[in-house]
Amino acid sequence: MLKIENYINGELVKPVSENYLDNFNPATGEVYSLIPDSDEKDVESAIEAARKAFPAWSKMSAEQRHDCLMRIVSLIERDMDSLAEAESVDNGKPKSLAKAVDIPRAVSNFKFYATAAMHTATEAHETVGQAINYTLRQPLGVVGCISPWNLPLYLFTWKIAPALAAGCCVVAKPSEITPMTAYLLSKLCIEAKLPKGVLNIVHGLGAKAGSAIVAHRDVKAISFTGGTKTGAGIASIAAPMFKKLSLELGGKNPNIIFADCNYEEMLKTTVLSSFSNQGQICLCGSRVFIERPLYEKFKADFVERVKQLKIADPLIKESIVGAVVSRPHLEKILSYIDLAQKENGKILCGGKQVKLEGRCQGGYFIEPTVIENLAHDCRTNQEEIFGPVVTITPFDTEEEVLKYANSVEYGLSATVWTENLSRAHRVAEILESGIIWVNSWLLRDLRTPFGGMKQSGVGREGGFEALRFFTEEKNVCIKINY
Ligand code: NDP
Repeated sequence: MLKIENYINGELVKPVSENYLDNFNPATGEVYSLIPDSDEKDVESAIEAARKAFPAWSKMSAEQRHDCLMRIVSLIERDMDSLAEAESVDNGKPKSLAKAVDIPRAVSNFKFYATAAMHTATEAHETVGQAINYTLRQPLGVVGCISPWNLPLYLFTWKIAPALAAGCCVVAKPSEITPMTAYLLSKLCIEAKLPKGVLNIVHGLGAKAGSAIVAHRDVKAISFTGGTKTGAGIASIAAPMFKKLSLELGGKNPNIIFADCNYEEMLKTTVLSSFSNQGQICLCGSRVFIERPLYEKFKADFVERVKQLKIADPLIKESIVGAVVSRPHLEKILSYIDLAQKENGKILCGGKQVKLEGRCQGGYFIEPTVIENLAHDCRTNQEEIFGPVVTITPFDTEEEVLKYANSVEYGLSATVWTENLSRAHRVAEILESGIIWVNSWLLRDLRTPFGGMKQSGVGREGGFEALRFFTEEKNVCIKINY
């Protein structure tokens, strides 16, 4: 069976303990590879390698770093199909989705930051008659990047690309649940001749390998994407050490549909924003609010379309709904469907585990589920489920729906459907979300600030913001003697 290895100091190495964890294929429920169960000893040697690589890497020109990163891009593009298949097997998502979204986005992340670093400029402030100040931005040193399982290579590269482009050296930990494409990336980094120690990938459990990265005194910043509770734990260790922190956390996003919307466009997109990647995208809209005059029509049409989504082996091209990522996650989602019923929710479609035949008979499949008749403040409508489950709720006024939308502790993203421009502006201003899509969903421009408010996180990724995160700013004040 394939044994994944850590990538430390430019080489693939076993974990010091030689202990491994099982890696499951969610579509079959079978173990198909083994993951290093790394601990603080592996993290220590990764950090040591990164520290040694830092002086040379940070002093390279942005163009030289660009060239290194673009060599990795060419190799990802070359291996697009095999990487997409690996992502699908590891995560359970349809291969077609991995090939259309996840792997191309990893390419874009590297391209965007490799080139962005060549276009940075810094500020100068003239204190008239006295001095000129300029801002010097220097790479922080060794930084830690920790990513989740839902968009494995996509979110992993979203962190390491700006860190590397800014001149930092990285110790990264992908989710132990989906380590495969990060492992394949490490092989591509070797082939691309990325200098040794610049990027180090340590596999293993969050509580062991992840927390060793967070707690290490030589790691200057942590860029983390994952659950809110994990983020709070990381902050409690990193904040007293005065590390820089970027936390992208959970969500419970509202999708607000006004009766004057472009109906067909809204309906098509709402199916996607509810169930893409089995609802396991932090930006999925899990609470759908519909203006009352449209409610019954929307309900009938939406449920009909959701019932048509094909649940199948993620490797076949007809598959639209793949497996959810793990057995514990499957059980968590099913427990929320139970809870919804206890809270008087009425299941309009779905609600059950699906047993496929053949190769996928042991896989973790759940029917896309639509639930109505729930109060906006019940647990089902307040807590993150992170699966193929949405609730639908009617509303009468703008004020009422904004109260519902903002009633959760999260504030990641929101979607608004209306043809009324003034209303779109008004609602966007009041919504407590870091990202607001009007008449669209997941339309991304990598230059824009990405992140959430409230318990959805601290800081923003994306654009020059992410490059700045990985640098320390200095003000240099030069007195002028006239
Ligand atoms: P987790 O918080 O469980 O894990 C995220 C990462 O942190 C994993 O690599 C995990 O390792 C690691 N980790 C866990 N415990 C620690 C620790 N004590 N110290 C350091 N690292 C640790 O999240 P999930 O992987 O379950 O991802 C789902 C969550 O991510 C959802 O809440 C979702 O909303 C959120 N998310 C947010 C996004 C955003 O942009 N705001 C985007 C995508 C997802 P391991 O799994 O190996 O134990």
